[in-house]
Amino acid sequence: MRILLIGAGGRMGHAVLAAAAQDSSLTIAAKVERGGALALALERCEVAIDFTVAEATEGVVQSCAERRKPLVLGTTGQSAGQKEAIAAASREIPIVFAANFSIGVNVLFALARRAAELLGKEFDRDIIEMHHRTKKDAPSGTAKRLAAILGEDLVEPVSVRAGDIVGEHAVIFSGTGERLELIHRAGSRATFAQGALRAARWVVRQSAGLYSMEDVLGL
Ligand code: NAD
Repeated sequence: MRILLIGAGGRMGHAVLAAAAQDSSLTIAAKVERGGALALALERCEVAIDFTVAEATEGVVQSCAERRKPLVLGTTGQSAGQKEAIAAASREIPIVFAANFSIGVNVLFALARRAAELLGKEFDRDIIEMHHRTKKDAPSGTAKRLAAILGEDLVEPVSVRAGDIVGEHAVIFSGTGERLELIHRAGSRATFAQGALRAARWVVRQSAGLYSMEDVLGL
């Protein structure tokens, strides 16, 4: 499978290159950085993976839709307008749009949903997320997704930006005399990179639509 990697020079770009080098079933056939010739690079590939910045999203989804190339979109922090552009493009091509490609975090989504159902609204719900000091968006896309699962009116994520933390998310249910904590810690970007490659293998077999990593994993 021939992949176009958009944002190849970034932290996630490097992690995807390293993960792809371990997998003989796929090739990073083209790489694009800021200002690169995206349309030309897309022609040479079957699927695109994007880890860039939210400002790039509209151009990326439109280019992929025009050339009928499936997309794995890992970039976070999009505005409502940018999300509309993703939804519009997904009527033409299959797109996996996931704030977090790690298997553990997607299981955390399912566990948080179940815990919220079981514990009810008598338990306070809190989300704390921690990332490296250069992360651009806050709260993280993963924390926003957790907030949507728990009821956005009930919880506002707390964000910590410090050091070189790859990514941590804690969901805390506090009752009277007891507390339940669900915590995920990513120790390496390899988990996101491997998940993005798994999503790429999956998305090329789908029809047009907007999919999540939970769809890819069948959760
Ligand atoms: P980074 O700043 O290290 O890398 C971003 C790269 O994109 C840079 O090399 C930059 O030059 C390039 N870029 C910017 N605009 C571009 C454009 N228009 N075209 C092509 N390249 C462009 O950031 P990062 O840590 O790699 O994170 C990238 C994004 O991925 C962020 O939104 C982050 O939140 C997200 N992320 C998602 C997951 C996930 O599992 N979905 C995991 C980690 C990070």
